[in-house]
Amino acid sequence: MPSETISVRVVARCRPLTQDEQEKGGNSVVTVNGDKVKVNCAGKESVFSLDGSFGPEQSNKHVYEGAVNSLLQGAIDGYNVTIMAFGATGSGKSHLMCGSEGDPGIIPILTQNLFRHIRERNNKEFMVTVSHVEILDEKMTDLLNPHNNTMTIRQHPHKGIFIDGLSELTVKTGDDIALYFTQGTRARKLGSSDIRAHRARANAVFMISLEQKERQSSKIGLRSTIMLADLAGCESINSTDQNIVNGTQGILNVISALAEGKKKGGHIPYRESKVSRLLQDSLGGNAATLIISAISPLDRSYSDTMTTLQYSTLAKKI
Ligand code: ADP
Repeated sequence: MPSETISVRVVARCRPLTQDEQEKGGNSVVTVNGDKVKVNCAGKESVFSLDGSFGPEQSNKHVYEGAVNSLLQGAIDGYNVTIMAFGATGSGKSHLMCGSEGDPGIIPILTQNLFRHIRERNNKEFMVTVSHVEILDEKMTDLLNPHNNTMTIRQHPHKGIFIDGLSELTVKTGDDIALYFTQGTRARKLGSSDIRAHRARANAVFMISLEQKERQSSKIGLRSTIMLADLAGCESINSTDQNIVNGTQGILNVISALAEGKKKGGHIPYRESKVSRLLQDSLGGNAATLIISAISPLDRSYSDTMTTLQYSTLAKKI
């Protein structure tokens, strides 16, 4: 993973039909196989080629081992990495990132593995901090200190893009991270009366920053950040309300411009939204990025699934 190149991988994650969907006679219209995702609805078949896919019978652990674990290795070697969950509301983004008791998500698996790696490297000392921010309608909320209103997105010559003023809490174990992640996630729920509508429009980014140094040295060696982004539901892209500056729309505009820009060297609208600005280094800079496109297999979700897969194909061109 050389630092001067941008690497964006895009994989699909198709969830199973829920019990409720099965009871209501919902049909699955999606099949995945290797790097191919096939959507077959009302006699119309569409095939998308991505960098990989995970099907309904696979657990979050499969997704972690197949697509995420190598990024954790990269972060420990000093590279910035970003994992974005992209997809419509109800497509399985939260289940993928947080998981359930029987099927832990990417975040708990990654954090437990992070500290296992740290314990194995006993010649090095690691300082690990976490931050958790929510962005809704261009307003940032510090989920680890909701009263904080002094945040600004800035660019640092070494650190890159960061949120000045955002709380950074030191953690010593995977359980500490899980605690802060849960605390931040709960703060998202407390701040809204309609959780589903809120989550559909809000973006959350959980950041784990690593600083490492040799035990005998006082000088900081490698620095890296792992960004875990749970993007707002991409169904709002088709919303008729043009005033919604949905962060996902901002990201998609950046992705489209980057995909086009390869040909034309055009303007990239990073500053159009706070989410795209925050993730600027992930998409166009020195980072390895994984986009996990969550899709529902349900026939009724056909149009959301198609939109998600069309943008995923575009993101592959970056
Ligand atoms: P989103 O966060 O994208 O709105 P959710 O993660 O809430 O979607 O998933 C929608 C529904 O599907 C939930 O009931 C969730 O429990 C279920 N679900 C999602 N992914 C899986 C999975 N891999 N296995 C089993 N159930 C899942």
